[in-house]
Amino acid sequence: MKKIVTVLGARPQFIKASVVSHAMRQSNQLQEVLVHTGQHFDANMSDVFFKELGMHRPDHFLDVHGGSHGAMTGRMLEHVEKVLLAEKPDAVLVYGDTNSTLAGALAAAKLHIPVAHVEAGLRSFNMAMPEEINRILTDRISRWLFTPTATAAEHLKREGFAAAQIIPVGDVMYDVALHHGARVHADGGLLALLGLKPKNYVLATIHRAENTDHPQRLAAIVDALTATAQTLPVVWPLHPRTRAVLQQTSRLDALARYVHLIDPVGYVDMVQLEKYAALIATDSGGVQKEAFFYQVPCVTLRDETEWVELVNAGWNRLAKPNSPGAVVSAIEAALGSTGQPIQPYGEGDAAQKIVNVLKD
Ligand code: UDP
Repeated sequence: MKKIVTVLGARPQFIKASVVSHAMRQSNQLQEVLVHTGQHFDANMSDVFFKELGMHRPDHFLDVHGGSHGAMTGRMLEHVEKVLLAEKPDAVLVYGDTNSTLAGALAAAKLHIPVAHVEAGLRSFNMAMPEEINRILTDRISRWLFTPTATAAEHLKREGFAAAQIIPVGDVMYDVALHHGARVHADGGLLALLGLKPKNYVLATIHRAENTDHPQRLAAIVDALTATAQTLPVVWPLHPRTRAVLQQTSRLDALARYVHLIDPVGYVDMVQLEKYAALIATDSGGVQKEAFFYQVPCVTLRDETEWVELVNAGWNRLAKPNSPGAVVSAIEAALGSTGQPIQPYGEGDAAQKIVNVLKD
């Protein structure tokens, strides 16, 4: 029996890990020890995903959140190291590109414990993004690089990683969408509660620092979604960071008059909102892909994206939120559009492929 310590802490990581954890437990050859750093700790950013996606409770909860990037990552590093010294795992498993990812990988690598990185090889080529720094450094010190797309594998090859380290498995979020997304329907749920009609509203999510920490960009997004709401209802589950910034800049009350501003929702409610939206406007990585899984046109409110396949195939449009007009035009152009048929995210068996590698 091999022991794997999984280090996670942010919303998208709970979702990604749910399928891999399940496959590990089913294998009977891997023992998983779950370490939750505490990066996301609110019930609706953390607990709800453990419950809805059938995950076991974390074995260690480190309660590290808030503060600057350096302070947060530093405290995580110290606490994760203690857990690893006590647990002595055969490998450490990390997901994506958050501070929890980097802290988990770095603590392990310094103790000579091999690291497995799920969602390796993604690049935005924008080093101003904290996520880009986290993912590049994590890839550099990982033993197994599980790539979600052919593009991600290409990036790693170009950066000089050995072919044996690069393991194309597909995207675990596709596994989750196939497994859990299929059981979500239009009737009842949040749609009924909000009085929204299927295919007659826009779903928005915003949380990246490049938008929340830049007042002009955030204002352009707010103004564009307010304008869109004149003709089509807009529902916006607010990330805690985005809510705090909008509150500080006194934009929240005016916005709430036009847009359905709601708290972050659980995975099942989110899938319902995504599946039946006329359009999704987002800066989230996961939500861009889920828009595609449910064949909903997407406008990505960023300067670049890691999920270039979707832009190339016409499912996704990049709209730099430099002005409200730029965002509104992209939304208008994308409404009612579809892209070419593509399948860039594997076969929906990424979790099983990862477990097969870790078993050996
Ligand atoms: N999500 C959710 N509730 C919400 C907003 C997002 O369940 O209110 C899910 C979404 O469906 C996707 C994941 O969270 O699976 C994306 O996480 P996030 O946007 O926080 O991070 P990113 O994908 O950009 O790393």
